[in-house]
Amino acid sequence: MTGSAAGGPPAGAGPTDTDWAAAVAAVRGLPATARVLLICHVNPDGDALGSMLGFGLGLRRLGVRQLQATFPGPPEVPEPFRWLPGSDLLVAQDDAYPDPDLVICFDAASESRLGDLVDRLDKAGTALVLDHHASNTGFGGIHLVDPHAAATSVVALGLLDRLGVALDAEIAACLYVALSTDTGSFRFEATTPAVHELAARLLATGIRPGEISRQIFDTRPFGAVRLFGEVLGRARLEPAAAAGHGLVWTYATRDDLARHDQPAYVLEALIDSVRCTAEADVSCVVKQAGDAEWAVSLRSKGAVDVSRVATVLGGGGHRFAAGFTGRGTVDEVVERIRAELSGALLPA
Ligand code: 5GP
Ligand code: MN
Repeated sequence: MTGSAAGGPPAGAGPTDTDWAAAVAAVRGLPATARVLLICHVNPDGDALGSMLGFGLGLRRLGVRQLQATFPGPPEVPEPFRWLPGSDLLVAQDDAYPDPDLVICFDAASESRLGDLVDRLDKAGTALVLDHHASNTGFGGIHLVDPHAAATSVVALGLLDRLGVALDAEIAACLYVALSTDTGSFRFEATTPAVHELAARLLATGIRPGEISRQIFDTRPFGAVRLFGEVLGRARLEPAAAAGHGLVWTYATRDDLARHDQPAYVLEALIDSVRCTAEADVSCVVKQAGDAEWAVSLRSKGAVDVSRVATVLGGGGHRFAAGFTGRGTVDEVVERIRAELSGALLPA
């Protein structure tokens, strides 16, 4: 079954006219008293927060008054994203409307990414899903899922345009953060002419790309710089892994964070230093999330479909950027990855 307003798994080809029309109707049909809850995925990144808050500001411009934005887990927003316009919409998950009239999910490929907030899907009058993961499981009522979109913010802007919301600098700043995060600052394959055209629209509102990039990519505490040195210093290169395409990996524990007095989010940038390794197609960072629980980031340069590896191991993501939660010791987690790599090779 293809994606439709009636629900079910989303179409690989992206939203149909019927899907867009259903989403527009769900927003336009809201009574003045409606409560709208926006949810993005756990451990929110630039696309999750940027698409959610940018869209939230658009809804506010449309006159939606009872509006909240949230994400599962502790309510702390990573420092690089605290300045985002629309952050005043954010509430802790426990304070989020228990039974909103409309719930809108951003950048979450599956219900598991919504943590304890998953119950809002059933309790909401309507559940609208905005996403760009090909692996999206179709867990809502209306799906705007475009696997060809470089970021969820592309889908969010598509809906804002159809709702007749005029782009302003605040909305644009949020959507630009999302777009530049998910394209790796316009370096990844997904950086199509359409992406640059969209970026041009956003920049035309007067936002400052240099300032935004410095805040979200190029600023970290000195303690994090030293922590990175230590964690990168223990990276391992395994040239024979992935049928000879190579694997490079490292790990970081909660002790490492505590020793350098750093919050967990600083580790999100580590994968970008690890994946530079010329001798490895696949890169991996294993980050401690609990006593025997690890958040794993995987990247590939094209030889391996890491979303397949992550999906087999209980997670998901995109072909060249994926992740999952692993249990056991670091060595056990890495061994499971190693074992899946040669089965996930892409045609040369
Ligand atoms: P990152 O390594 O930056 O955390 O995530 C890379 C990609 O993998 C993102 O698109 C993200 O949605 C996906 N991803 C990361 N961790 C998980 C996970 O635990 N479960 C699922 N389903 N996807 C994940
Ligand atoms: Mn995304």
